[in-house]
Amino acid sequence: MGLLDRAGARLTANPAEAEILVVNTCSFIDTAKQESVDTILEMARHKTEGRATKLIVAGCLVERYRDEIRKNIPEVDAVVGTGELEAILEAAGIVQAPAVPSPFTILSGSAQIHSGQESLAGTHKPEFRAEGNLREEQGRFRRDAWQGAAHMLPTYLYDETTPRLLSTPRSSAYVKIAEGCDHPCTFCVIPNLRGKFRSRRFESVVAEVQQLVARGVREITLIGQDTTCYGEDLGLKDGLATLLDTLAGIEGLRWLRFLYAYPNRITGKLLETIAKHDNICKYLDVPLQHASPTVLKTMKRGAGAEIFLKTLEKVRAAVPGIALRTSFIVGFPGESPRDVEILEAFVAEAKFDWLGVFSYSDEEGSGAHGLESKVPKRSIEARKKRLMKLQQNISMRAKQQWVGRELVLLAEGESEETPLLWEGRTEFHAPEIDGKVYINDFGDLDGLEAGRFYRAEITEAHEYDVVARVTGGPL
Ligand code: SF4
Repeated sequence: MGLLDRAGARLTANPAEAEILVVNTCSFIDTAKQESVDTILEMARHKTEGRATKLIVAGCLVERYRDEIRKNIPEVDAVVGTGELEAILEAAGIVQAPAVPSPFTILSGSAQIHSGQESLAGTHKPEFRAEGNLREEQGRFRRDAWQGAAHMLPTYLYDETTPRLLSTPRSSAYVKIAEGCDHPCTFCVIPNLRGKFRSRRFESVVAEVQQLVARGVREITLIGQDTTCYGEDLGLKDGLATLLDTLAGIEGLRWLRFLYAYPNRITGKLLETIAKHDNICKYLDVPLQHASPTVLKTMKRGAGAEIFLKTLEKVRAAVPGIALRTSFIVGFPGESPRDVEILEAFVAEAKFDWLGVFSYSDEEGSGAHGLESKVPKRSIEARKKRLMKLQQNISMRAKQQWVGRELVLLAEGESEETPLLWEGRTEFHAPEIDGKVYINDFGDLDGLEAGRFYRAEITEAHEYDVVARVTGGPL
């Protein structure tokens, strides 16, 4: 979006008024592929029936099915993979930044677009870790099961010189600190799509966050396929902890968090750093994928319920009151009723604040694709339903503990459900993924301002969401 904007394109979120349509896709599991294809077909209709003259497909679906998209959806004019972002300009027919604004109006995938770009110095050619190179020799990143996938793995890494438009509300931004993944998880094709692990330069991340905060961003969420490996390829020890420590010192940054910790990479130093800074959210997202040692072994992740419980104990002792999120996959090949029991017992004991459950998706190109003893779809869905039900009760009880507490809220705007309510988040809610805080009482204030922080008391608890009354602010 930043590249297109800099080249003079006018961006719109309304497909009916766009002349060039860009669909950014995902393809790591079946449901994501389906959603991507449905969106492409929907946009193709705008091309045949509306004013659009060009349809571009970008992202992970292209890495996987480049030829098939072109062959099966003739309305598609160009494809742009995850490693060739600059090609979006040529695909859109804007090869160089024009002296006058482009005549095109281009649809982006986001409803909210705020202008403003970063353009700071510095470029960085990624180097790969020995671990990634070894995994490649062992066949980890092979894409030959995918008809039409380019042979080359993406090596793209954005930096602080890359123009960027935020599609998130003005107060909040995601910052990607690393790209790719060297882990061998057998259910996962993300490394094949995103390439080997590589970190952005430390100074580049700091410069970008400084720039965002100067533009009014108050909440930064650090992301990457594996944030806890950050800096290993740059020779940094405790890279993520050091990065957080530095970023927390940026004046004006109110909330800082990171997502997707790998369980055995949660170091004492990392926890100490979270505990030490008031502006680092007391929040940890650690996808565990399963709790049965047998399943985790076949997943090539290792560990199990016992080890995880010790890790969680360590986390909670180091950072009292921390909110924990995890996600699991049910129905992995060979998962027995006993494995499911182990998982359920673990979920009951671990008491996560937030939990996601994915149905196993059998992806060609993944290590598990060739495994026998596939679990029938109906059993997978039944297992998923049971686990979610179990968590619902745990979540309800945990949310009831919040009633009466005064917390700091980030007001996000009127609720999508009714204009009578506002929605907000606490430090225990990551953007877009966790439950909601509904605000039904503004206290002494006439109204709230989206993107500002307020003090609020939690007054009601539901299964995942809570209700709050504003008691002070804006802060
Ligand atoms: S760590 Fe995450 S992204 Fe990497 S292979 Fe495992 S599941 Fe996939």
